[in-house]
Amino acid sequence: MATAEQAEQKAAHDGKQGQNGDVDAAAQATEGLQIDAPDSSYNLELSQDQKDIREWAHGFAEQTVRPAAHEWDEREEFPWPIVQEAAKIGLYGFESIAQFWADPSGLTFPIVNEELFWGDAGIGMSIFGTTLAVAGIYGSGTPEQMVEWVPQCFGTEDDVKVGAFCASEPDAGSDVSGYRTTAKYDEAKDEWVINGQKAWATNGGIANVHVVIASVDRELGSRGHAAFVIPPGTKGLEQGAKVKKHGIRASHTADVHLDDCRVPGSCLLGGKEKLDERLANAREGKSARGQAAMRTFELSRPTVGAQAVGIARAAYEYALDYAREREAFGRKIIENQAIAFALADMKMEIDASRLLVHRAAWMGKAGKDFDNAEGSMSKLKAGEVAVWVTERAIQILGGNGYSREFPVERMHRDAKIWTIFEGTSEIQRLVISRAISGVQIQ
Ligand SMILES: Cc1cc2nc3c(=O)[nH]c(=O)nc-3n(C[C@H](O)[C@H](O)[C@H](O)COP(=O)(O)OP(=O)(O)OC[C@H]3O[C@@H](n4cnc5c(N)ncnc54)[C@H](O)[C@@H]3O)c2cc1C
Repeated sequence: MATAEQAEQKAAHDGKQGQNGDVDAAAQATEGLQIDAPDSSYNLELSQDQKDIREWAHGFAEQTVRPAAHEWDEREEFPWPIVQEAAKIGLYGFESIAQFWADPSGLTFPIVNEELFWGDAGIGMSIFGTTLAVAGIYGSGTPEQMVEWVPQCFGTEDDVKVGAFCASEPDAGSDVSGYRTTAKYDEAKDEWVINGQKAWATNGGIANVHVVIASVDRELGSRGHAAFVIPPGTKGLEQGAKVKKHGIRASHTADVHLDDCRVPGSCLLGGKEKLDERLANAREGKSARGQAAMRTFELSRPTVGAQAVGIARAAYEYALDYAREREAFGRKIIENQAIAFALADMKMEIDASRLLVHRAAWMGKAGKDFDNAEGSMSKLKAGEVAVWVTERAIQILGGNGYSREFPVERMHRDAKIWTIFEGTSEIQRLVISRAISGVQIQ
């Protein structure tokens, strides 16, 4: 089949000039060639439902989140009133999250995340940080455990709660095999006794439900891990130091100490039988869990990527408006190619990131294999684009961009964490390079 490139070459060869001339020439060149009709089953158009949800989430981000962003960033406090507002309109809560996740295309949750984080990343993380705990329960729990614990992560409209996912430790972030927190089974009481320290937990210590990853057999490394729900008010769980951060300062991040923290046997996510079976497989050297664990990460990464797209888009839009207004040397700064081309690149990179995010989200929902770690690709690209775009936005605003009076400075500080948490950029590259090569790249 002749390609469009061949058609263009022929048109050029025929010596046609000008924009319309090129189109006409291409049409003539393709006349009589077998060019397939577009496949109508392939469609990048969002459904009306998705557009409506996007508009609704955008409205909340624009009217409630954005105006509060500066204040809560400066206060460095968890924005409970905004999370309560989100619960009131049904954006925050068990039912809404279930509804977003139920979308068969997989795009609704990323779309909502993009809009919310467009409003503000610190408040966005305060609202959706709970979904980390939910993903932990969903990833390992039985249906009964999901029904019991997921609603408790959110609380109710009148009594809003949050959840926390505690995996990282002071000496082990990327290297999950290094976790030192232990869980020992007390058979007589059918209880698990958890001891250790977790670090950088979003909502750590202020959460109603903490999901904690602990080692039940340290010799097995990451294959000896299990996930536990720590119910509200459990003795032995204490918040440690609250982290003073560079960005997303409204979001609460803290260490969590677990000191002889006893939880009922039923708090082991997935149940004892499944754990024993998994441990037995690991001890026999059977490779049972690797693919499933990788798939869980690949499924959650597009949503994280969508958040980064939201931050990048916010900074780009602000910079575009500014460049249209700001004058230097007697003309609008956007009339300079240096500025206009930067904005063109920013827009292109944001759109490319979103396409990767939507592809991976769709693949996850459609049950496709992530043969090339497409979920990691989407998070890696979007995170790095968010850092780059927000930095460019500061440059376009000049001195104002560096001032706390203008939001792009905050957006740049916020964006940086998207190359660090949920797997650093280096770890994403490791995952992608291993997937494409089959080689255990170090
Ligand atoms: C604001 C914030 C919120 C967070 N929220 C949570 C949360 O809710 N729950 C949770 O469990 N954790 C959370 N984290 C922790 C976060 O996931 C970790 O910080 C992250 O995984 C990186 O781990 P680390 O900091 O130990 O860095 P390290 O693993 O020590 O890495 C340091 C550097 O070395 C690089 N590196 C490490 N190994 C390799 C390798 N093999 N090849 C190449 N480079 C490598 C890394 O990419 C990085 O650049 C949060 C962190 C922050 C800052």
